[in-house]
Amino acid sequence: GDLTLPQLLERTAARVPGRAAMTFLGAQTSYAALWRDARRLALALQKMGVKKGDRVAIMLPNCPQFVTAFYGTLIAGAVAVNTSPLYVAHELEQQLVDSGSETLILLDSFYPRYEEIRERVPVKRVLVAGIQEALPFPKSVLYPLKARREGTWTEVDYGHAAVLPFAAAVASQPPEPRPVALSSDEPALLQYTGGTTGVPKGAVLTHGNLIANCEQSRAWMSDLRPDQEITLAAIPFFHVYGMTVGMNLSVLTGATMVLVPNARDIRMVLGQIQASKATLFPGVPTLYNAINNHPDTPKFDLSSVRACISGSAPLLHETARRFREITNGANLVEGYGLTEASPVTHVNPVQGEQEDGSIGLPLPGVDALVVGEDGQPAGAGEVGELWVAGPMVMQGYWQKPEETAATLKEAFGRTWLLTGDMATMDERGYFRIVDRKKDLIIAGGHNIYPREVEEALMAHPAVLEAAAVGLPDAYRGETVHAVVALKPGAQATEAEIVAHCRQLLSSYKAPRSVEFRDELPKSAAMKILRRELAKDARE
Ligand code: ATP
Repeated sequence: GDLTLPQLLERTAARVPGRAAMTFLGAQTSYAALWRDARRLALALQKMGVKKGDRVAIMLPNCPQFVTAFYGTLIAGAVAVNTSPLYVAHELEQQLVDSGSETLILLDSFYPRYEEIRERVPVKRVLVAGIQEALPFPKSVLYPLKARREGTWTEVDYGHAAVLPFAAAVASQPPEPRPVALSSDEPALLQYTGGTTGVPKGAVLTHGNLIANCEQSRAWMSDLRPDQEITLAAIPFFHVYGMTVGMNLSVLTGATMVLVPNARDIRMVLGQIQASKATLFPGVPTLYNAINNHPDTPKFDLSSVRACISGSAPLLHETARRFREITNGANLVEGYGLTEASPVTHVNPVQGEQEDGSIGLPLPGVDALVVGEDGQPAGAGEVGELWVAGPMVMQGYWQKPEETAATLKEAFGRTWLLTGDMATMDERGYFRIVDRKKDLIIAGGHNIYPREVEEALMAHPAVLEAAAVGLPDAYRGETVHAVVALKPGAQATEAEIVAHCRQLLSSYKAPRSVEFRDELPKSAAMKILRRELAKDARE
């Protein structure tokens, strides 16, 4: 199709204007109001000088202003730059400089991080969203707005940038943006990759990429009821997984988004599911696992949840089994994807056979190959790198032609995205992720994928979270080091954990050392940061 994201929202707002597009801690915004506010914001941005193709950085948790900011930016013809609220000032600086963002929309309590770096970034205008009253964030007024009264359109020049209240920018404008010619193959989003493995790169995703992936990822729920579903939007929109499956898919299907500003607050997640009677709950394994193990979970009614998709890391059998139990049989399927593919490429069939430990089948319109070291497709069951192709694959990395050339490759008559993940495909076409190519541990000449060790660790009844990393070793090259967090109240010793692993794994794979932590470090997308753990262990 040649649809753009503003057209997607316009269509849904015309079809179901009165339906709630989103609810936020009880407050509702209809699709008509969202469409109106996004258009008001677009005009405000245009009046402030934002032009087609300009980058607008958005640093917000899941909240109504995020959705308005994203669509408003696109209606103005600009490109949204998703910016993690967890970024420290230095990371924010890197991303604002790399993306050349002259406009920044951020939450008031994040303002000090911008202030620290404002002399070193290209930002000319800042819109500050004040939602702290409704949020469990620090209450103090942290940004230097003289005219903070909502509803006033007062630009205050601080010498570095014009700072304005977001609410006033929206409220002061009519919903009549200047028309901008946009096509589906133009950039909509700069999405910096998670940073789990190194220097962040901005994946350029077009309107067409993002819409294609919405259409494709619908496949995870075969019995979707258009304009009736309620999506628990707990996974962050500032990561493309939440943006596509939580936000844009809801807009496409006319679902109501229940915005959860902080997915780490499990009590809030549980309360929001119960209060909203959420039906769809896209998530990540660490989140489902945290819910499974939270002491308050039994107090909440989660039976409204019908369909869940888990992505971003391996979903363990036990996590899925337990979550289905507590939701009274929700269909929880494992999928797979990566930022550069908008992101979902595989999912287990909802109706057909679901395979434990498998990421399932390529989505409609996705081609996938496992490619061996010789550059040729590998045979069934053989390990190779996973390559994917289709309309959801990014244009390239922002201003990084070498990285783009190393990641997008012409072969077999089309352009493939090299995922950097090692995988297998069986005779029936089901794929399995073995692990990331870069995380391979080589100990005494043996190849060890951390995932296998982590699965053994997780099978120990006291273990809540686990990671395996390689430590340099003079004799073996590397040895396997485990880092675990135990379940609340549970106990285990290093020797017990090692002995447990030795029962499940050949001895060269079993960890030599185990470190205990209260909690494992995670990225903003709630992914366990192996790289950080490896660095700590080496020091
Ligand atoms: P960076 O690209 O900076 O290293 P990242 O790898 O976290 O960060 P994302 O695009 O957020 O970037 O994550 C994509 C990766 O997540 C995949 O390449 C894969 O390694 C992993 N992944 C996603 N889904 C699954 C799954 N179901 N099973 C195993 N791994 C998965």
